[in-house]
Amino acid sequence: MSPKSLRREMRAVVDPGRLGLSVKGVVLLGVDKLKVTVTSEDQKEKLTRELRSHNFELREDRPRTRSLMVRIHRVDRTIPQEDVARMAFEQNPWVRELFKDLSEWKEEFIPSFRKGKRELDDVIWVTRVTSRVRDELLKRTFIFIGFDVCTISDFIDITQCRKCLGFGHPESKCRGQTVCSTCAGSHEAKACTAGNGIKVCHNCKSQGLKQINHSPCGLDCPVYMKVWRREMRAVGPL
Ligand SMILES: [Zn+2]
Ligand SMILES: [Zn+2]
Ligand SMILES: [Zn+2]
Repeated sequence: MSPKSLRREMRAVVDPGRLGLSVKGVVLLGVDKLKVTVTSEDQKEKLTRELRSHNFELREDRPRTRSLMVRIHRVDRTIPQEDVARMAFEQNPWVRELFKDLSEWKEEFIPSFRKGKRELDDVIWVTRVTSRVRDELLKRTFIFIGFDVCTISDFIDITQCRKCLGFGHPESKCRGQTVCSTCAGSHEAKACTAGNGIKVCHNCKSQGLKQINHSPCGLDCPVYMKVWRREMRAVGPL
């Protein structure tokens, strides 16, 4: 079937007005494919249902934006990687409502690597997710896996230089000066002789900010926070 007649056929069975669709675009893809863009998840579902009921063959176009990662906290260390997604699927009814089967869920929820201190019984699974899965997880704030209630947070990989404490480049590409992350002096943090409990944030100090008694490497720091926010905006609104 030619794309033109395909479009005509679609029009014949779907009335966008009646379905309340605002179609953002219809693009021809190859000889027998059309790509239809609508403005919300809800509209996509309606259109999908309608087209399926008329035996159209459909494939979801997965937007290739930057990958989203979330942290799943407090997951039992003994649970192997290949079981995390399956257990999440089996133990959380909302997941089974959203995803017909495990394989579909596994395409949108991919435990990628784990973090956490070796001596602890539980770990953080950094998990690659689609935006709809991220939104659901953050809205619910937790997910059941094993015997644990695992809380969720965004994972954003901020590159902060360990040498100059600047952002956006690693130590190996640094052209800045060595700065101590503890006292803001001109030496490496491991050579720091500042007394216990002393904290001076080099980044805030050099910007002339008043509050400088914190670490430059965390969300306590307004400069770090700003970078984090910028990254979050790149990922999408909460
Ligand atoms: Zn640097
Ligand atoms: Zn120091
Ligand atoms: Zn700071």
